[in-house]
Amino acid sequence: MSLPQTPVIPNSANQNSDFDLTARTIAYFSMEIALAPSLPTYSGGLGMLAGDTLRSAADTAAPILAVSLVHRRGYFRQHLDTIGQQTETDVPWAPEATLPSANRIVSIQMQGREVLLRAWRFEVVGVTGHVVPVFLLDSDVEGNDSWDRHLTDHLYGGDTYYRLCQEAILGLGGIALLQSLGATPEVFHMNEGHAALLTIALLETQLHGAPLRNATEADIEAVRHQCVFTTHTPVPAGHDQFGLDQMYQVLGHDRASAIDRIGCLHNGLMNMTYIALKFSRYVNGVAMQHGIVSQQMFPEYPIHAITNGVHAATWLSESFQQLLDAQIPAWRTDNQYLRSVYGISPANVAATHRKGKLRLMAEVASRTGQTFDPNVLTLGFARRVATYKRASLLFTDPARLVAIAEKIGGLQILFAGKAHPADTAGKGLIREVFASAALLNSSALKIVYLENYDWELGALLTQGVDVWVNTPRRPYEASGTSGMKAALNGVPSLSILDGWWIEGCAENTTGWAIEDGESEEIEAASLYQKLEYAIAPLYANTTAWAAMQRHCIAMNGTFFNTHRMLAQYFQNSYQVPPTLTSVTAESIQHEPALA
Ligand SMILES: *Cc1c(COP(=O)(O)O)cnc(C)c1O
Repeated sequence: MSLPQTPVIPNSANQNSDFDLTARTIAYFSMEIALAPSLPTYSGGLGMLAGDTLRSAADTAAPILAVSLVHRRGYFRQHLDTIGQQTETDVPWAPEATLPSANRIVSIQMQGREVLLRAWRFEVVGVTGHVVPVFLLDSDVEGNDSWDRHLTDHLYGGDTYYRLCQEAILGLGGIALLQSLGATPEVFHMNEGHAALLTIALLETQLHGAPLRNATEADIEAVRHQCVFTTHTPVPAGHDQFGLDQMYQVLGHDRASAIDRIGCLHNGLMNMTYIALKFSRYVNGVAMQHGIVSQQMFPEYPIHAITNGVHAATWLSESFQQLLDAQIPAWRTDNQYLRSVYGISPANVAATHRKGKLRLMAEVASRTGQTFDPNVLTLGFARRVATYKRASLLFTDPARLVAIAEKIGGLQILFAGKAHPADTAGKGLIREVFASAALLNSSALKIVYLENYDWELGALLTQGVDVWVNTPRRPYEASGTSGMKAALNGVPSLSILDGWWIEGCAENTTGWAIEDGESEEIEAASLYQKLEYAIAPLYANTTAWAAMQRHCIAMNGTFFNTHRMLAQYFQNSYQVPPTLTSVTAESIQHEPALA
């Protein structure tokens, strides 16, 4: 077991400033937020998106504050043995030695007792100095039951009871903290269903302490008026639900019976998504197709879409940042200026990408002892290991893959990704990739699986490979964001047309679509076909490849960023429409063309 670490936080103004929280009109709630590479407060895409959103909020001086949990022991560090067997260790850190305290203790009633909570304040500092405060709730408070003191230790750890307690802390504790700090947000944004219990706390506030059974439709409407919700996955297991016994045990009779009476149960279970849907005036999915898929999943609620993005300055390589600062300095506050990359020569873009590739290869060598050739076509595949992401689709026809590698003058593939500690099937997938790599590694084909996919490794990979590969089973990839990081760095994608790629793919210009097929074999065949006949010949043509790299930045970097995404949240989600009963864009679109 390792000792608690004191992370170095370069991006946080580590002083005890007391800003005026009453000016913060938006409260952003998320179970995980990636705040700094050294802080283990995230697991993957959801936390990255939350962090990137807040970094864009800081850069664009948006009036936002955020609430999450401290996760004192992190998600986990991944260890892989020689056959790809994953084991995990905790990532303990010491918030008291790292961040200023919010100087408040609040208490919430849960599990039939009082739980005390404190909070640590992380400051996301934008490019012009604007600060977005993030409050990390911590139950490790003297006076708490010793079991309760560990409730904010493990992100996505423990059983469903532990998870429900964490969600109670996030939703109920988060509102209690904001009230004690004197914050007066007008909009509460639930980033995924984990935060849905904040609606119950708002309903309690609305009732001034009267029992929830007194709540009227007007009270519920008053809460709805303040809440917006983003749903993040079409995978059913991604929507948390809890048994009624646990709901009553953790939340107590008044809240639990209100949740039942208001109609937030689904299939006899307490369902966080349905609570959030019921109490939100605006709901969105995270890419256009995901909005449609979510609408089919929840037909009784109108569901919109705002496509995800990434924080450009976080994901652009050092060398690209230097190039852009010199050529297009305004890009940091307004990413739309990235379009002016068309004023930079393709050769300059290609040379800048090459620096990222060299850096990646040096890191691969130092981590694994494997020598990669910077002149050889290099594919990257890194993501949370879940069965629908199909990490092994590339190995469907190993002989074909080897033949292509030999024909095109070599091929290198870098893999990375963590499986959730309880996901036995996911862990099996990692071993499968290891087995394929051991079998196929030759002078023409080099395959390496890198350990512990995290912020830093994600950046290295998306900045350094030549092509980013994504092979999800449709339509389970809600958005995906790693391909957006790649695009910003001039890296095209080879991907199933799912999630963001439906919007981002311009064939042979920003990348390639793997054609839909009836079976994995057919889809794999399309992947091999594109690799052999479209990608390899283009890669061999230095001028054409450089032009493509520039298109990726100009066409996709300009759009798939969180500056644009956040502006869309303000326009479509956060801003209350003039009257809630006014005609919506949707209702106009659905009118017949000819009356
Ligand atoms: C960007 C990122 C993700 C999310 O990427 P997807 O394309 O959604 O898989 C996950 N983990 C890390 C470490 C990342 O940087």
